[in-house]
Amino acid sequence: MKAFLLKRIFDLNRETSPLQLAEVQDPIPKAGEVLIKVSCCGVCHTELDEIEGRTPPSEFPMILGHQVVGHVASIGKDVARYRAGDRVGVAWIFSACGKCEFCMKGMENLCSEFRGTGRDGRGGYAEYMTVDEKFAYAIPPTFSDEEAAPLLCAGAIGYRSLMLAGLQDGQTLALTGFGASGHLVLKMSRHLYPRSKVMVFARSREEQNFALSLGAAWAEAVTATPPYKAAAIIDTTPVWQTVVESLRHLNPGGRLVINAIRKEDSDKQSLLDVEYQDHLWMEKEIKSVANVTRRDVKEFLQLAAKIPIKPEVEIYPFEKANEALMDLKHKHVKGGKVLRM
Ligand SMILES: [Zn+2]
Ligand SMILES: [Zn+2]
Repeated sequence: MKAFLLKRIFDLNRETSPLQLAEVQDPIPKAGEVLIKVSCCGVCHTELDEIEGRTPPSEFPMILGHQVVGHVASIGKDVARYRAGDRVGVAWIFSACGKCEFCMKGMENLCSEFRGTGRDGRGGYAEYMTVDEKFAYAIPPTFSDEEAAPLLCAGAIGYRSLMLAGLQDGQTLALTGFGASGHLVLKMSRHLYPRSKVMVFARSREEQNFALSLGAAWAEAVTATPPYKAAAIIDTTPVWQTVVESLRHLNPGGRLVINAIRKEDSDKQSLLDVEYQDHLWMEKEIKSVANVTRRDVKEFLQLAAKIPIKPEVEIYPFEKANEALMDLKHKHVKGGKVLRM
């Protein structure tokens, strides 16, 4: 099969084609696994973190990609949930141990043996992939393959971060960063908390206008002073300045949820601007989001189908994976990016 391989860590400021298109052996499903013929794979900021070494693959070469949609091509021994032809998706959670205290409590996202799709197990930047049937999801018929792909990470992790924000209807929510995940969180929050105002901090005028068109009450640059204080803020940016700036805009007792697997080091000195009195005092909280559980993915897919949430997607042909990644790094345009086979 054709697959894009990542063979080492790259500095994407110097090199722009980290993935190599190669012919590799088709994967064979083991017991309990399904073989998926991939039709689409979403492109996620976490792929940049993997390529640049902030959360490196556990082995090389690795096939990236954790927002995978396709059809079951064949099944391994003892597979009971799916049959050939079923449409399924795969998300960031590739597997977890199933036995530890976290797994037993439904917090498999925190399992020390958590494996990420496309980082610790081969993902969807390929014609085929295999996954344990327990970590594959039926895709609601409401969605096309392209629409479903960004729901599997940007949507599911956005859902987890919104749940962790602990918002009540009527309380103000703010979002810093407005990419694939941010725009889905806005759509979700408009449905779940119809009386809440949503404010958006985003870099470009284009992103700000996009946020306003989706119902944000206010959208400006991160350095602007918003009209309201927020009960909760969800940060989806890779930088630190947004963390520091947004803490000032939290209400007493408010919570900042950082939805990023890794932060970049480029502006880490911004942290020195933290003043305890302005940024942290009055019982403000900071919470990170780590991975997703299967329950997050399932609940979110159901919610997304019910609302319905249709993500804005920009489609790239499979061969243009490197271009899609570099666009994600440097251009800030709306919605989620999806590779189509
Ligand atoms: Zn992702
Ligand atoms: Zn575990």
